[in-house]
Amino acid sequence: LAQRIEREADKPSESEDGCSMDLLVNAGLSAEIETAVHSGKVGIGLYRTEIPFMMRERFPSESEQVELYRNVLLAAPQREIVMRTLDVGGDKPLPYFPITEENPFLGWRGIRLTLDHPEIFLVQVRAMLRASIGLKNLSIMLPMISSVGEVNEARRLVEQAFFEVEEEAQIKGEQLHRPRLGIMLEVPSVLYQLPQLASKVDFFSVGSNDLTQYLLAVDRNNTRVASLYNSYHPAVLSALYDIAKQSAEQNIPVSICGEIAGEPGGAILLMGMGYRKLSMNAFNLRKINWVIRNVKLCESQALLKSALSSDSYEEVFHHINQYLEVKG
Ligand code: PEP
Ligand code: MG
Repeated sequence: LAQRIEREADKPSESEDGCSMDLLVNAGLSAEIETAVHSGKVGIGLYRTEIPFMMRERFPSESEQVELYRNVLLAAPQREIVMRTLDVGGDKPLPYFPITEENPFLGWRGIRLTLDHPEIFLVQVRAMLRASIGLKNLSIMLPMISSVGEVNEARRLVEQAFFEVEEEAQIKGEQLHRPRLGIMLEVPSVLYQLPQLASKVDFFSVGSNDLTQYLLAVDRNNTRVASLYNSYHPAVLSALYDIAKQSAEQNIPVSICGEIAGEPGGAILLMGMGYRKLSMNAFNLRKINWVIRNVKLCESQALLKSALSSDSYEEVFHHINQYLEVKG
């Protein structure tokens, strides 16, 4: 099987009945970017900027960030690169910015922290924009959005940064392209405000890892409740399906960058829901490409139907396994 997967690695991600999927990678380490983009054709659906921040002893300066981001954007200048603004707090501590909280996953993390420290946010967004001068492939994504107000505030800051960098660029006679702005859908509240949110941003990206944690009220890293944390819980699948349908109605591009996108059963179900853009760890790319090439859209829709009417994730797994066995 490994050989068959390898042989088909460069073929397009298209199902047997012609449904075309766009596969992208999640990255944060430069080694991952090299591996992923080595093939020259893959974009980055999620660049986790907190990873380089976590590997340092102090906040990187604006010019250090420019250099870092420039290298990432240049790795695939013809492909979209989605850079997520700093998503620290929760399970991702910065050694030089300690936060002590009783309940960190419900606390000061992601966009909450950077909106309270606009100087951190502005430096980072300016660095992304400066890094993108002369290029057209930058998208900026906001993590942990839970309300429309946060989007308004972040947008205002992104605009401010844009005008600052644009002025600099004009003086030097350089071209600054306007980046696309998107948000992560990973806090359940946003499921009920998708039309309002869709009118304010250019794209959505589903963070199914956190969405699972918050929908099921299960800490994603607590081993004691690990058996309860599962993205194939029928309620989570219903939420993912609902997002896909609502995004289509609102005519806003939606992708998904949680772990489920890089799993064979998950990718098939997501295809059945209507997702056409999956972002995953680079090492899952070939496998998922192969899976997609060997299924039919109508089969994925039938599998989705059984999954959604299941009572538990165990039952969902049973349906997935049965399907994969039939496919051999
Ligand atoms: C997610 O929450 O699904 C996600 C992709 O972001 P992270 O895993 O970095 O929280
Ligand atoms: Mg997340």
